[in-house]
Amino acid sequence: MSEQYIDIETTAEIVKKILPKMGEYKVPITPQNYRVWYEYYSGTNKELTHEIDSLIREKRPFTHELNRYLYTKYFGDDHNKEILREVQSKTINVLKNFLEQVLATTSSTSHYGDKLEKYSEQLNRAQDLGEIQGILEEMIRETSNMVESTRDLQSKLKEASTQVEMLRKELAKTAEEAKRDALTGLRNRRAFDEELAKLLKSYREKGEIFSLIMVDIDHFKRFNDRFGHKVGDKVLQIVANTLNYTLKGKDFVGRYGGEEFVVLLPRTSLENACVVGEQIRENVSEKRLRVTKTGENLGTITVSVGVSQVNENDTAESVIERADRALYLAKNSGRNNVKSEKDL
Ligand code: GH3
Ligand code: MG
Ligand code: MG
Repeated sequence: MSEQYIDIETTAEIVKKILPKMGEYKVPITPQNYRVWYEYYSGTNKELTHEIDSLIREKRPFTHELNRYLYTKYFGDDHNKEILREVQSKTINVLKNFLEQVLATTSSTSHYGDKLEKYSEQLNRAQDLGEIQGILEEMIRETSNMVESTRDLQSKLKEASTQVEMLRKELAKTAEEAKRDALTGLRNRRAFDEELAKLLKSYREKGEIFSLIMVDIDHFKRFNDRFGHKVGDKVLQIVANTLNYTLKGKDFVGRYGGEEFVVLLPRTSLENACVVGEQIRENVSEKRLRVTKTGENLGTITVSVGVSQVNENDTAESVIERADRALYLAKNSGRNNVKSEKDL
């Protein structure tokens, strides 16, 4: 028997041709018939190839007798146990390789791999040709089912993964939105709490200090009362923008609630944070409010600022509380003012 019979490289190609052809000529898939047709397609046995070509040309039906005749003529006595075993194992190899190729190109399922294993075992144990034929036929059926369902499965998987990816993006966007304040676009209280917790953690673990700035709009109620809520909202947006450009997006800027804002400055001392606080105060106070349509002057906005720096006894509440107390000191010192925990 030629070595080419189990040559893995060409096997899959030949197998792809054999099975449909055997089906076309209604040749039952038995190891013997398979071997005959494998030889035919591999072209290693010229005489065999020639004979089958003539049979096809003559449209001779491949009856049980004819198939048996062909096998016996070219491969000997099929009752020879030795040959039977050889055919058995080589058929297993051929089909295994083919199926493995299919599996490799179609993202395998362990389910199918298990089945393949089961068929191999059954084939190894098989005692007679009828049994082998049954197993092979089941294998072929299973394979074509698998190829079909895998194709289907793959497009479904692709579709599913596209959907999952879309969902993932949507979720990420929603999660991001959940941490933003709708009116000002700044990070909200929830985001602030998270950021503060992170900074406290790295302070405790790595000793990285940070400072906190509380900003509160002065007499904000008056804007609402005099010009209405809409103008009040506009003022909040102006202050938010001012905070953004003052901090240049480097640090955490959030809306703490109402007309109060908060800034977190990683690796920043109280002294430097006070400089930033002063910049904020200054930049806000330079804003001139005018109603675009009427040109009406709404005056100026001012803010009061309180600053604290983390210390070793701090919790999230205590570092906020010191900034808050400094802020109220700034209010009580005439507003439009920056005070730090040092001033308390
Ligand atoms: P102070 O200088 O002492 O801080 O005085 P204030 O008027 O700024 O402080 P107060 O706490 O008395 O008033 C805050 C006001 O902010 C009350 C509330 O109606 C208003 N406010 C809170 N959130 C919003 C908002 O989203 N939009 C508008 N337009 N007003 C808001
Ligand atoms: Mg307030
Ligand atoms: Mg206020």
